[in-house]
Amino acid sequence: MLNIVLFGPPGSGKGTQAAKLVEKYGLKHLSTGDMLRAEKTSGSDLGNEVAAIMASGKLVSDEIVNEIVRKQIGLHVGKVPGFIFDGYPRTTEQAKTLDMFLQQVGTSVTTTLFLDVPKEELITRILLRSQQNGRADDTKEVAEARVVEYNKWTLPVASFYDSQGKLRMVDGLGDIDEIFNRLAAFADLALRTA
Ligand code: ADP
Repeated sequence: MLNIVLFGPPGSGKGTQAAKLVEKYGLKHLSTGDMLRAEKTSGSDLGNEVAAIMASGKLVSDEIVNEIVRKQIGLHVGKVPGFIFDGYPRTTEQAKTLDMFLQQVGTSVTTTLFLDVPKEELITRILLRSQQNGRADDTKEVAEARVVEYNKWTLPVASFYDSQGKLRMVDGLGDIDEIFNRLAAFADLALRTA
């Protein structure tokens, strides 16, 4: 399987690039942000539980997101050529759990692609996006809180994959297709050496 972890700070363009990787490689897109927003919209107990946390820019608990991902892997494994994880894992605990989940179904993370975007650019992009999609957490204050959470909890996940020799840095500046070509070059390489 080709299992890609698409990694990067909030506003780095993970969602946009994930959609293009899905199109090219036929992968199943697992975005924990999208799945949590869907829970919220559905008005489920879980959705109500996570709504306030998401609105604050803090991370939802590892238990909740791990369970969501576990279910999705179980539903799709064997039916798709691989997964693209977007916005997950966001803590080292989640990364360890993902390794375990994938091992249980006889596969593993193939490569982690880190979309590298300078800090100053991130808030600008998030605020621009808020004008287009009206996402409740795309305000300046919440965006800043998300960057704080990212630096505290998520950045260490890059070291986790680096120590496994799986981290690839990708310049996240430039036009969308240019960035996609950089990502695809690493995905192709991973496929050839898999
Ligand atoms: P971003 O565009 O900031 O990367 P996402 O759409 O991935 O945002 O996530 C939105 C919010 O959903 C996060 O701020 C967080 O509250 C919650 N969330 C998403 N994925 C995770 C995760 N893997 N662990 C904990 N919380 C998460």
